[in-house]
Amino acid sequence: MGTVATVTLGPDYADRIESVTEHIREIFDRLESELSAYRPDSAISELSRMAGVAPLQVSEDAYHVLSLGQHLGRLSAGAFGNPASPLVSLWGFNGAPVPMAIPSDQSICELLKLVDYRRLVLHDGTAFLPVAGMAVDVGGIAKGYAVDRAYDYCLSAGIRDFLIDFSGNVRAAGRPLRREGWQIGVRDPFDGSRIIGKIALPSGLAVATSGSYERFVEIAGERFSHIIDPRTGYPVTGTASVTVLCADAITADALSTSFFIAGLEGAVELLKKVSSVELLVVPDRYPADLWLTPGLDKA
Ligand code: AMP
Ligand code: MG
Repeated sequence: MGTVATVTLGPDYADRIESVTEHIREIFDRLESELSAYRPDSAISELSRMAGVAPLQVSEDAYHVLSLGQHLGRLSAGAFGNPASPLVSLWGFNGAPVPMAIPSDQSICELLKLVDYRRLVLHDGTAFLPVAGMAVDVGGIAKGYAVDRAYDYCLSAGIRDFLIDFSGNVRAAGRPLRREGWQIGVRDPFDGSRIIGKIALPSGLAVATSGSYERFVEIAGERFSHIIDPRTGYPVTGTASVTVLCADAITADALSTSFFIAGLEGAVELLKKVSSVELLVVPDRYPADLWLTPGLDKA
């Protein structure tokens, strides 16, 4: 998935780090081969190729990820949507060439018709994009799903103290050496060498961060983030980073992307629709000015 994952085990499990890492690598490799939009042979790429042709039987993993993505589409009033892929490509992400000029309103309008999350048909293990040209990209949710699968594996292998961090998607259990619990540093979106605070991560819960600093393109001297609002067709502006703490990593991943798009204006509305979610929003203004829910205030 084009990024780095780290696995940390508590001191009682030091001698198992190699085999645990190897198992998690296998899980991630398998999921990448199913879910990557970069791999032409993945189920997700196949689904996009079959757009307008016929429904495709997809793996349980892909079906689960696409279903939760669609649920988030509903919750976020269309801000989150795995079918945003054609727009993500238009702006030069996911391996597409970076455009020389800002895409025209006309080219954006054409694609807006193809990116509606409601048009992805999920039924009984099959997925279907009914119009040729539609495509899906699960990059906003798949790493969290992978972390949950690795988390389940660690528990089933009898590991009680561990932390998995897949490019800012983190889930942990138990505690590290000489501490009551795990702590996660939240990166300063304006200065990657600093952190803006720490979050105490309760055992079993997950944290995810979406940031405009992670991936961006420069078009005509302007920077554009890799998260696109499928309702406008434009890359999201106004948010520098969003961190979400909640029950599992797939939800944290999908929600961090969703809240990133919702921005401060939409965050309160979206918060009403989800339960047991703590949120930190850093608007794209300098000096940094943080907005957080009461549960994170202690950090
Ligand atoms: P994340 O880093 O988890 O916030 O996910 C960002 C990735 O999600 C991008 O690189 C795209 O692959 C994908 N993406 C971009 N815009 C959207 C969107 N509106 N809904 C869902 N996924 C998106
Ligand atoms: Mg995400």
